[in-house]
Amino acid sequence: MVVGDISTGTEVLVIGAGPGGYVAAIRAAQRGLDTTLVERDAYGGTCLNHGCIPSKAYITASSLAHEAGTAEEMGIHADPAVDMSQMRSWKDDVVDGLTSGVEKLCKANGVNLIEGTARFKDDSSVRIEHGGEGQGSETVEFERCIVATGSRPVQIPGFEFTDDPVWSSRDALAAESVPDELLVVGAGYIGMELSTAFAKLGADVTVVEMLEDVLPGYEDDVSSVVRKRAEELGVKFNFGEGASGWSPDGDDVVVETETEDGETASYRADKVLVAVGRSPVTDTVDAENAGLETDEKGFFETDDRMRTNVEHIYAVGDVVADSPMLAHVGSKEGIVAAEHAAGEPAAYDAQAVPAAVFTDPEIGTVGMTEAEAEEAGFTPAVGKMPFNASGRAMTTGHTEGFVRIVADEDSGFVLGGQIVGPEASELVAELALAVEMGATLEDVASTVHTHPTLAEAVMEAAENARGEAIHTLNR
Ligand SMILES: Cc1cc2nc3c(=O)[nH]c(=O)nc-3n(C[C@H](O)[C@H](O)[C@H](O)COP(=O)(O)OP(=O)(O)OC[C@H]3O[C@@H](n4cnc5c(N)ncnc54)[C@H](O)[C@@H]3O)c2cc1C
Repeated sequence: MVVGDISTGTEVLVIGAGPGGYVAAIRAAQRGLDTTLVERDAYGGTCLNHGCIPSKAYITASSLAHEAGTAEEMGIHADPAVDMSQMRSWKDDVVDGLTSGVEKLCKANGVNLIEGTARFKDDSSVRIEHGGEGQGSETVEFERCIVATGSRPVQIPGFEFTDDPVWSSRDALAAESVPDELLVVGAGYIGMELSTAFAKLGADVTVVEMLEDVLPGYEDDVSSVVRKRAEELGVKFNFGEGASGWSPDGDDVVVETETEDGETASYRADKVLVAVGRSPVTDTVDAENAGLETDEKGFFETDDRMRTNVEHIYAVGDVVADSPMLAHVGSKEGIVAAEHAAGEPAAYDAQAVPAAVFTDPEIGTVGMTEAEAEEAGFTPAVGKMPFNASGRAMTTGHTEGFVRIVADEDSGFVLGGQIVGPEASELVAELALAVEMGATLEDVASTVHTHPTLAEAVMEAAENARGEAIHTLNR
């Protein structure tokens, strides 16, 4: 123990207060366990401070500005001026409200909060270094530990986030002004969400992507709706190119790209946003001191109770191998770990995990695609409802996209669905419930849906899969 160290004990120590960690800590405390949560940066983690929440705040605000300026057909003539500094301070207020809410919830549930960086001394204690000069450190001994240290953006060699014109998603979400020209490297969900938002705020956006299309992992008919709309918004795409370097040129930056065949191109911009994925943060905890093993990419492998190779140490959230890096997945895993730590027979056994992309239009997916259902040995029954046949979609002015439902022909059980269109991130919840509850096409089709709503399209897709759609032609 170093001079000045104090040593305390806790039944459950949670490291990291993102949506994995703080949810785990609250549930552990709710179960009566003496629980300590340590965070080195900000309560709410990436999600609340630099990810889900600020990005969705900007996406909403930029869409509002864009819609107001493009609603002549509805008889609205406006030319909205965007005050970026006001928009940013509104976004910060949203973030502050939520992060302080997390802190209050933790305290109200009896979670002990410690600010600092936790590193394992061994498999039953950590040293917590408090931030800043002379802040000291303390040792906390634990019976069980839940590691929820999250992820950070992947860097491309040569593109250091410390260099001013090179932005990570975190830098983009803290921008003080809208760049005139923005080069985005990577057309995954973060790159596409931010490209769309900045285009709506008036930036001239160019995207370079190594692969041949946007949003890898999504079916072509889903991702193409988003790509076409982004193109309408003025976003320019260059596929099959990887960013290889950059150099300053006056106030601008010139980014070099290269194809697999060695062809090069260069793009001039004010800022370059690198959004090529995220990697786990498992190097902040001195995992080896506790005997914790990581895979070659740095993730912790866990069992379905979220236990690592060291039985009384759990891992949840973005640090977990073979688990989608999504906030709601981290929270679910956190609940499982906390309940298991409390002696309950909890296990992670979600039938399907919904995912959303908050582009224009949005994407919401859950469970199996038609191809995946076939591969799994089902005979898929597929139904589709285009939003251009939805009365409510027409009244919103957003009729691109569709709802598709995938079920097992024999039993009728809903296996999954893909939605691209207005409010897809909300609508997918109905399909997720259907998959989780083992609902059939008949259950979804015969559930009375409010009119006029976008959710009717889910019902119509189910009816269509049964050959009984009223508002579209059955196939
Ligand atoms: C731009 C962007 C948009 C996103 N949008 C969405 C979305 O719409 N929906 C969605 O589901 N997901 C989204 N995500 C992903 C989501 O943010 C993550 O999946 C989620 O935050 C992971 O939660 P976590 O608890 O595992 O880790 P994090 O939220 O990363 O939290 C980990 C915490 O651990 C702390 N920490 C690390 N090491 C230590 C240590 N040694 N001691 C103490 N504390 C430590 C960190 O400071 C951090 O606060 C987005 C991410 C980004 C970047």
